[in-house]
Amino acid sequence: MDKRLARIRCDICGQLVTTGVAVPAAFVRPAVMELILKQHPHWNDQCHICLTDLNRYRGDYVQQSLEQERGELSVLEQQVVESLRQHEILAENVNEKYDEQTTFGERTADAVASFGGSWKFIILFATVLSTWITINSIAILSRPFDPYPYILLNLVLSCLATIQAPVIMMSQNRQESKDRLRAEHDYRVNLKAELEIRHLHSKLDLLLTHQWQRLLEIQQLQTDLLEEIANRGVQKT
Ligand SMILES: [Zn+2]
Repeated sequence: MDKRLARIRCDICGQLVTTGVAVPAAFVRPAVMELILKQHPHWNDQCHICLTDLNRYRGDYVQQSLEQERGELSVLEQQVVESLRQHEILAENVNEKYDEQTTFGERTADAVASFGGSWKFIILFATVLSTWITINSIAILSRPFDPYPYILLNLVLSCLATIQAPVIMMSQNRQESKDRLRAEHDYRVNLKAELEIRHLHSKLDLLLTHQWQRLLEIQQLQTDLLEEIANRGVQKT
């Protein structure tokens, strides 16, 4: 009997087909096999499948995995939107926020401290001192209001120093608590960045392992189909 006329029963559709178009179960890719077993649980390693049925299942498999992928992508998109909605942006201007909470006295202390630590203050102070000394030295022969050794000037300077010291300390305390607030904020931003990076890592892992593998499976199926087409061309000639 001619080998090409030998007929084998396809275990899926039950039709008798020639050996050329019947594929043994061992040659079916595991991914496609799974799909066939879902609909035909009795199908096993000894069975055969005709090419028409096999190609139908291959098409189903490719379509199914593409749909699944689209589903996964939309889930990812949802997660991104959700995370954007939930944990908004943490970055904010601490200075502005802190300035909103300050009282009038604290703001005055800041202004006094920053004026006291400027060249403007030093120049002004030097001018006032030299004017005071000059007036009282020139007018020394007539009637100076604060004669040498300028005791009134000493009193004024002592008072100024007494007031300036606590004002500067107040301002320093405020600066310190501002720094603490800033450090806390920095920590929160860093933590969020770390979490986002971890998030990104898991997304990349999904892309690299999961989808890459699926693409490879689809490519294998395509290679199988191409081989079959090539074989058919050889048989015809
Ligand atoms: Zn069949």
